[in-house]
Amino acid sequence: MKKVMLTGVRPSGNLTLGNYLGAIKNFVDRQDKCKSYIFIADLHAITSPKDPKLLKESVENCIAMYLACGVDPKKTIIFKQSDVLEHGTMGFIMTFQTKMGELSRMTQFKHKSQGLGKEGVDTGLFVYPTLMVGDILLYNTNIVPVGKDQQQHVELTRDLAERFNKRYGETFVMPDVYIAPIGNKILNLQNPLEKMNKSDSGDNRGTIFLMEDINVARKKIMSAVTDNLNCVRFDEENQPGISNLISILAKITGEEIASIERRFSGKGYGEFKREVADRVCELLSEIQTRYKGLSSEMLDAITTDGAKRARRVARQTLAKTCKALGLD
Ligand code: ATP
Ligand code: MG
Repeated sequence: MKKVMLTGVRPSGNLTLGNYLGAIKNFVDRQDKCKSYIFIADLHAITSPKDPKLLKESVENCIAMYLACGVDPKKTIIFKQSDVLEHGTMGFIMTFQTKMGELSRMTQFKHKSQGLGKEGVDTGLFVYPTLMVGDILLYNTNIVPVGKDQQQHVELTRDLAERFNKRYGETFVMPDVYIAPIGNKILNLQNPLEKMNKSDSGDNRGTIFLMEDINVARKKIMSAVTDNLNCVRFDEENQPGISNLISILAKITGEEIASIERRFSGKGYGEFKREVADRVCELLSEIQTRYKGLSSEMLDAITTDGAKRARRVARQTLAKTCKALGLD
């Protein structure tokens, strides 16, 4: 029996190199070995208010980006979360299995709600992890490839699945998180102490977008913040900027970190950055060429079919869950 793999991205902006290297690439590399699902987490996007027109565009863009990044609709079920209504109900049920304390401890919540005060925080931001718990459990998922920032949410999923199974009888499959050893937290090129985020407001000099003009992307890498140690060495604590660029290069090419360090031993940062920029630009051009070959009709057909197939499984799991609760 093939293992079930599932991942998703919030359509909250243009996808970044961080989204690709931290989650999508790991998914694409395993999609033939698993029964694979990838979805556009549009319900997660409305956890904070969005312009409806922009959201719609962002959803379409996200589907196209999945395909451009190599997600193959013949091997993977691609769907929009809001097309499968079971996500809402399952999220609602899982919210009721969760303690306020558990959600308050989520580092993403703590980080994103900073400075807003209790009165100003959207409840969507507080409860979105339980929607994610539902997303994962609906498909009897075994493997969830995500970036490091989402690890805690998959752990919460395991805790809640276990609690539910104990309380109501064996209902859910226990998912495992897959965090790749390299590239699981790509950092902002201008502030290598912070994660690269697609929805960062303000200036984007530290973020590489997958659809970005190649020359702009090159400039961003060449002007990435580094240090004055002048040594290409993987040392996340003392050289976060250089270590981030090493991770990007290693993840794209598959070269070992030690081999990169050896090759650039005694060489300057300029030469090293040029190579990182070359590999990133090659990757972006491949993705952008594939993107250009896509049409809206193609995307519609793929997600309509995907939703139908996803719904079949989601409906069964939700029915089983309701039955366990005495709601059948
Ligand atoms: P947002 O700012 O809207 O939260 P995001 O860039 O964090 O956007 P998400 O939609 O939250 O993207 O996450 C999609 C997937 O990409 C998740 O699996 C997440 O762990 C992964 N991911 C996001 N940013 C990075 C990053 N900088 N490095 C590695 N993986 C990342
Ligand atoms: Mg995020």
